[in-house]
Amino acid sequence: MSVDLPRARTPAGTGERLQALVRELFPICRSITGDGVRETLAAVAERIPLDVHEVPTGAPVLDWTVPNEWNVRDAYIAKDGRRIVDFAESNLHLVNYSEPFRGKLSLEELRPRLHSLPEHPSWIPYRTSYYSPTWGFCLADEELRRLEEAEYEVVVDTTLAPGSLTYGECYLPGEREDEVLLTTHVCHPSLANDNLSGIAVLTELGALLQEARGSLSYRLLFIPGTIGSITWLARNKDQVDRIVAGLTLACVGDGAPLTYKRSRRGNATIDRAAEYTLPRVDERARFVDFIPWGWDERQFNSPGFNLPVGSLCRSREGEFTEYHSSADGLDFVRPEALEHALSSVVELLGVIDDERHYVNLAPEGEPQLGKRGLYPTVGGSAAEQEQIAMLWVLNLSDGCHSLLDIAERSQLPFELVREVALRLRDAGLLAERVEDRS
Ligand code: ZN
Repeated sequence: MSVDLPRARTPAGTGERLQALVRELFPICRSITGDGVRETLAAVAERIPLDVHEVPTGAPVLDWTVPNEWNVRDAYIAKDGRRIVDFAESNLHLVNYSEPFRGKLSLEELRPRLHSLPEHPSWIPYRTSYYSPTWGFCLADEELRRLEEAEYEVVVDTTLAPGSLTYGECYLPGEREDEVLLTTHVCHPSLANDNLSGIAVLTELGALLQEARGSLSYRLLFIPGTIGSITWLARNKDQVDRIVAGLTLACVGDGAPLTYKRSRRGNATIDRAAEYTLPRVDERARFVDFIPWGWDERQFNSPGFNLPVGSLCRSREGEFTEYHSSADGLDFVRPEALEHALSSVVELLGVIDDERHYVNLAPEGEPQLGKRGLYPTVGGSAAEQEQIAMLWVLNLSDGCHSLLDIAERSQLPFELVREVALRLRDAGLLAERVEDRS
């Protein structure tokens, strides 16, 4: 039997299951296109219903073009026949989207192609070059310093050729066509917090939303960063007005407090629901205003769309020193942080799913609650709070104040405000105002 979304809870063992998915997907070499994305989406599709879309290279998408598809067979730097930098050991060693190359180079010729992090000498940096063709390798600075003058054999056995861009879409219809858009990027190789934490939480959320249907519809996107959201927007332009709330999810597995970045509008339902919910589930929760950089929320909040899409993370991009390096490994992500992020999103979606405006049908004077069986016959503080909640709901349900407005104004729990509104509706005292709730 399906559960009402606001009552959905994460089942026991969720943290371990999330961590197991991160572990399973960790070795795959992902990028903005290619087989790594397909393999990742296949793992997601084992858990939730997923439509996998392939958009051909060259397709115009908004102001962009779908690039060539990138795949890697092998890549290494060898000296005297021995591999000293090897893609097979870590996919971070190869600059993501490196074009094919084979040759013998001196150290001096090779050096401009090598990237390291001198401030963290044992970490391998993560570098990409999607839109300007080049090749390169990343390695620990302590390894780089050990390289001697010699002839190096360089093999970048990649393909960068017409193919397609792949993304996954999971649509879970509710009672209404109005939908909530939930997205995560799927384009990073072996990095745990930046990328895999978002994929794991969104997958598990999809499984949970399948069981706990709400009144809204839910659309989950697993897309390569930037070009993926641009591609999806280009193909779904005529449907975006259904989106009443949205959230991009990334970096939710580390130890930092939950951090919510507001939509460009700043006062959309998602923003207000986050401000209401997150401090209740994380007393250290942080809020930041929209800025036009970060993850895919940039595209959803571009002025031509201006969708009510916020962003949820723990550490923000670039805020943690391990960001975009081999130190963002499996140990950096904690099962309890993943599980808490998931349960917080469920809590937040429960509020959004229930957010309504009602109109008081007996607004002249207080309606007599006793004759409708709504006046508590037994006293006590719970009964008293319930009665106060009824009076707040009746008073503010003028079509302009929503349940969230009433919860905020009255300082009463949203859950209680919702409960009494349903009872007042069933007693014929309230009618729902159907409107644009974004
Ligand atoms: Zn990143």
